[in-house]
Amino acid sequence: MTAISHSLRSSCGRLKDHNISCTRLTSTLSSLVTTNPKPFNSPKPHHHQNQTKPIIPYTQTLKDSLLSLIKSCTHKSHLLQIHAHILQTSLILDSSICFHFLSLVSLSPPFQNLTYSRQFLFQIPKPKAIHYNTVIRAYSISDSPQEGIHLYLDLRRRGLGGNAFSSSFVMRCCVRAKYLLGGIQVQARIVRDGQQSDSRLLTTLMDLYSICGEFDDACKVFDEILHRDTVAWNVLISCFLHNSRSRDALGLFDIMRSESYRCEPDDVTCLLMLQACASLNALEFGERVHRYIEEHGYIGASNLCNALITMYSRCGCLDQAYEVFKGMRGRNVVSWSAIISGLAVNGHGRDAVEAFCEMQRMGVLPDEQTFTGVLSACSHCGLVDEAMDIFDCMSKEFGVVPNVHHYGCLVDLLGRAGRLDQAYQLIMSMDMKPDSKIWRTLLGACKIHNYETLGERAVDHLIELKALEAGDYVLLMNIYSSAENWEKLAELRKFMKEKAIQTTPGCSTVILHGTVHEFLVDDVSHPRKDEIYRMLDEINSQLKIAGYVADVSSELHKLGTEEKGYALSYHSEKLAIAFGVLATPPGTTIRVAKNLRTCVDCHNFARILSGVYNRTVIVRDRSRFHHFRDGHCSCHGYW
Ligand SMILES: [Zn+2]
Ligand SMILES: [Zn+2]
Repeated sequence: MTAISHSLRSSCGRLKDHNISCTRLTSTLSSLVTTNPKPFNSPKPHHHQNQTKPIIPYTQTLKDSLLSLIKSCTHKSHLLQIHAHILQTSLILDSSICFHFLSLVSLSPPFQNLTYSRQFLFQIPKPKAIHYNTVIRAYSISDSPQEGIHLYLDLRRRGLGGNAFSSSFVMRCCVRAKYLLGGIQVQARIVRDGQQSDSRLLTTLMDLYSICGEFDDACKVFDEILHRDTVAWNVLISCFLHNSRSRDALGLFDIMRSESYRCEPDDVTCLLMLQACASLNALEFGERVHRYIEEHGYIGASNLCNALITMYSRCGCLDQAYEVFKGMRGRNVVSWSAIISGLAVNGHGRDAVEAFCEMQRMGVLPDEQTFTGVLSACSHCGLVDEAMDIFDCMSKEFGVVPNVHHYGCLVDLLGRAGRLDQAYQLIMSMDMKPDSKIWRTLLGACKIHNYETLGERAVDHLIELKALEAGDYVLLMNIYSSAENWEKLAELRKFMKEKAIQTTPGCSTVILHGTVHEFLVDDVSHPRKDEIYRMLDEINSQLKIAGYVADVSSELHKLGTEEKGYALSYHSEKLAIAFGVLATPPGTTIRVAKNLRTCVDCHNFARILSGVYNRTVIVRDRSRFHHFRDGHCSCHGYW
């Protein structure tokens, strides 16, 4: 006898006045199970299946016994027996039994089967909103959220009302399906049903607008929320992050805690803040979040530690990243990948490869992300042979199929190492279609090594992919400029002017006491501009004494050498560094973040300045870090 039959039998035994004998009950269960052995595969749910069958009446006590059986069910066969039993008795009319059974098959991991729960829902003769809600909720966290939206429509069509929970769950389905129109329709219904004050519902709506890129609408919904809890703030913060407003997102950390709102950030808030700090190079702020994490006991969470490792590495503070890594109790593959990528971006290629070997010794298997990290480490340091070996063993030893990012790292590596023909051959041999990033990488390498023809070919591929960006024209212009091909340069410039192609202006930022100071080329908008320009002139004359000569190869205009030198002297990173020298005490590290690749001349400038002024200068450009100390750069001129 099965455990469930046994349990039901003993329940029956206790009910002397029960009108079904134990034998009949167990035999009913058995016969139902044998005649209908696979309800999981039954394709046709039926709303009124039970009307044609005799319904066995039930009492409250036996109902309670069945409820506890549902709650303690551990085997699939028991589940099927319970299902059969519910169908055969009056219990299919019992809202509570149906709800608990649905919860079990919709939301409990071992039994979770959404097709099955949907079938059961349709077997309930008079379903209520609560039953629909259970299944819609399950769909809202599944891979087929659109099914939840269909169920919601069915709920409304059948006139079963639906409540704030129905709206909330279907809204989550819309978020997961990124179905903005559906969300707007639900919103209209929310307004009609007078549910505006439900904060959770509005928070989900805000999330939907945010995910679908409707930033302003998301903010409007936030304004409408009366009781803004931490979840609402977190959604607002991620909305800012998704819409390239990381700096404003940072500001929300203090605003939410202010007297006016008194809302405490939680672990999710900290995670979002660390992401913002990493992208903004906002070290001071990141350190504040780190302290907050420690003070509030979140430091044990591995996702926060991984985010801290990434934040510190992306702010150029490898020592602190490593401290966090060392202090972690359970280092998973994400932690290893984070530290490997951190070493990579800061130019410690050999250490990254060593960490890659170490993680394997510790029994942690590398994943796609780890390989991207270690291959990019090799590419930043010119470790061609090591990268080739690692690339080789990826699929053979670890079953990781190289993706477009891995190929991108190799193209970058070969390109930087001057093996451009090999890089081109690698691209042509790829199993997948090369994306624009790969062609752009090759174009960048053509710029470094002055490969005019191959550069033009890369541009052709970018045109074919309809992916040519303003920055690519600049690279091509640089190639023409280095080759002193003024004719083609003028032609390209004319073409860009005709097509009104706007290039992204170079922009460098320095964060001082929490304030972001932003500089563009020839910028005169800073309140201390006079002092900054005076300082820059002084630095220039000091550096010239130390042997600095402007490298004019990056300047695109056809000017005389002296004029070119003048044009280069006000590049954004130079203004930012001059401001750093001016505004911080001697010896303080100057940290600059640049949105584009730094030019050769600015690189020389920072390198020599670090020796002459005895300052560590850390520049993060679009692809990596340069740590300038004592007249040297961590990249050893390889970038
Ligand atoms: Zn420059
Ligand atoms: Zn460098």
